[in-house]
Amino acid sequence: MTIYSGPVFDMAAQQFGVIADYLEIPIDQRDRLLLPKRSVTISCPIRRDDGSIAVFEGYRVQHHLTLGPTKGGTRFAPNVDLEEVAALAIWMSWKCAVTGLPYGGAKGGIAVDTTKISRRELEVLSRRYMQEMIPFVGPHIDVMAPDMGTDEQVMAWFMDTYSMHAGRTVTEIVTGKPVRAGGTLGRREATGRGVAHLARRVMKDRHIKESGATAVVQGFGNVGSIAALELYNAGLKIIAVSDHTGALHRQGGLDVPSLITHVEQRGSLAGYSNELALDPKELLTLPCDVLVPAAIERVIDAQVAANLRCRVLAEGANGPTTPEADLILQRRQDEIFVIPDIICNAGGVVVSYFEWVQDLAQFFWGEDEVMRREYQILDAAFDRMVDRAKRDNIYNRTSAMASGVERVRDMKNTRGLFP
Ligand code: NAD
Repeated sequence: MTIYSGPVFDMAAQQFGVIADYLEIPIDQRDRLLLPKRSVTISCPIRRDDGSIAVFEGYRVQHHLTLGPTKGGTRFAPNVDLEEVAALAIWMSWKCAVTGLPYGGAKGGIAVDTTKISRRELEVLSRRYMQEMIPFVGPHIDVMAPDMGTDEQVMAWFMDTYSMHAGRTVTEIVTGKPVRAGGTLGRREATGRGVAHLARRVMKDRHIKESGATAVVQGFGNVGSIAALELYNAGLKIIAVSDHTGALHRQGGLDVPSLITHVEQRGSLAGYSNELALDPKELLTLPCDVLVPAAIERVIDAQVAANLRCRVLAEGANGPTTPEADLILQRRQDEIFVIPDIICNAGGVVVSYFEWVQDLAQFFWGEDEVMRREYQILDAAFDRMVDRAKRDNIYNRTSAMASGVERVRDMKNTRGLFP
């Protein structure tokens, strides 16, 4: 029993168990790799616009400190809780390790429905969250980034709050900031671009012609909308998209730039078209070449996995596929190529790493250089995953996670057990 028990943590633990068995990690060394090093729960009181006081619960989990500082997003969503944040921190660890970044994983968040608070309340809550986190984070301790429900502006408020406390500007405390506030070119687009880049690589390997190929994207926020746009620009037809308000379907292809403009102006896909409306439950199992889940965890369960009709599953979201679904997808490897989350959406943390490096050096790169280096790291991690999967005849997720876990385990063994 741990305080982290819950469905998402259990899923991360179950996945780790598979890897630990494959790597033959002795039982007594497993908890040291799996259990988070530190976690903090805070309460954030704020004054609402009507003068009343409301208290929101927040969390931050740092999974391991073995490779360097921890790194991870901050999620503002109604269901955020400690166990979910812990699972997301663990996945961040394997992601940073498999891509060769000098970080452990972290994650944080607040249980809040951002559609039900004003802009002023969002700012006050963001600042209070960072204020409460100051004893726990630092540019060489734990570096935050955006995730669901947070954006560049929230990162700018985090950075300003930390800097006010420090008495100097500390841009390197968070990544995903606006470029004018110490952010890097290409960070906003990094995750979606990486997802599309790897999906296109697999299409090429599998001889799927881009022109006229079809894609379905669940979630139309930062990751989903950019991935959809990149695939659209490559000539694919984006036949269906969805967000928390509903789904849209057009077999001839949706106009992705106009969907993006609509969401920028209206905040969601709602109101775009009644005629194109689709039952969101049908979205994931539509026949298509590329399926990009880019919203929440555990949307592909065993039943959905058995009914998937895509050829490439490009996991933009973290943890979209349950371990039960993985067992099915493992059997369907010849039909469906799975690009697991820790590689597929790693472009975000890779470019966050570039932002941190640029802030520390106060030396900034052009966007072409950011993208070139991003794809170089993603391609290398992808190649290692494919090579290992072939060599050992294992599933892609097992291969990718094994390389991540192995790197952390090896460093722990080299450093030894303190004291
Ligand atoms: P976001 O807040 O920008 O967008 C989330 C989108 O998902 C929104 O369109 C929202 O309406 C939609 N959504 C929420 N619940 C949904 C549901 N039940 N069905 C369909 N759509 C739903 O968040 P984001 O940054 O794009 O993150 C999306 C996913 O990608 C998350 O799993 C996140 O952890 C992961 N991720 C994000 C980044 C990043 O750089 N932002 C990096 C790696 C992984």
